Amino acid sequence: MSDCLFCKIVSGQIKSEIVYSDDRAVAFRDIAPQAPVHLLIVPRKHIGSLNDLAEEDAGLAGHILLVAKKIAADQGVADSGYRIVVNCNKDAGQAVFHIHYHLLGGHCLAPLG
Ligand code: AMP
Ligand code: ZN
Repeated sequence: MSDCLFCKIVSGQIKSEIVYSDDRAVAFRDIAPQAPVHLLIVPRKHIGSLNDLAEEDAGLAGHILLVAKKIAADQGVADSGYRIVVNCNKDAGQAVFHIHYHLLGGHCLAPLG
């Protein structure tokens, strides 16, 4: 999609700090990190939100989780732990309408107590 920020990052039109790339997915550092490790994993294919994920995207969605697992290991947070978050639509605070999986880690994210 020509007017989509993450499509532009995927195509290289807009610069970002890319940490992983393959034929189906790209991962880059969040511009406003909420944790020491805060990456966004996106499919190359434009999918607006989780609501737009189709049956035919099942393999792609699975692939992205396997990419998340690999990146977590590469970033050194696989053992300490990490969180995958997908915000969908207004009440979740989705700001960019190209589906993305936040990978957060590097400090304790669990509530105290
Ligand atoms: P969400 O609220 O789930 O839609 O998250 C969108 C995320 O994209 C936010 O965490 C932003 O900080 C991040 N973001 C926005 N613009 C950029 C950019 N140019 N490069 C990297 N991350 C971005
Ligand atoms: Zn897009």
